[in-house]
Amino acid sequence: MEQTLLSRLKLVRIGRPISRPELAAMGAHIREAFASLLQSIKMVDLEPPGVDRIEADLLTQALDHHVGGHILGITDADLLDSSTSDSFQYMFGCKDNRNHVAVVSTRRIASPDATRSITRLLKVALHELGHNFGLTHHYGYVSAPDGAYCPMTKGDYNRHGERSYTRSVIDARGFRFCDGCHGFLRLAHKSS
Ligand SMILES: [Zn+2]
Ligand SMILES: [Zn+2]
Repeated sequence: MEQTLLSRLKLVRIGRPISRPELAAMGAHIREAFASLLQSIKMVDLEPPGVDRIEADLLTQALDHHVGGHILGITDADLLDSSTSDSFQYMFGCKDNRNHVAVVSTRRIASPDATRSITRLLKVALHELGHNFGLTHHYGYVSAPDGAYCPMTKGDYNRHGERSYTRSVIDARGFRFCDGCHGFLRLAHKSS
């Protein structure tokens, strides 16, 4: 069943984008944010593809094929989305609607402050995993009970008139989902 599959998350580290303790800490935060929805988190190490940038769709499909199941892939390669425009778009993270694979990249969120980098990575991961559980974006800004923005907050229109999120929006997000998202998760993934 879908629900059983989603309750078992694999954190797949592609190469060494973060350390093993950082990966474990991420797993603990993710488990806390999704509470009873996640029954287990398994850590998997994969050899890096040896490229500096990769089409996000290709990566999600490769992870679905080679690892399978409910996956959060973590890479330090740049994630490209060449499907939506003539010019390449770089992404912080991506969720493939054809499978249960989300990927995040450390590349564009790096900060001189290592703690900030890892915190950003976690916030992007919570957002993409939220998609895995069926959550959609909040355009504009929605706060969670901890006072920070819900991880599904995507922010406002950027200067190109596109809805997009930036590092500053990521920094303003917290680690807790808003009441609306929690309500959806309870309803959609209610254990019988
Ligand atoms: Zn999103
Ligand atoms: Zn929310």
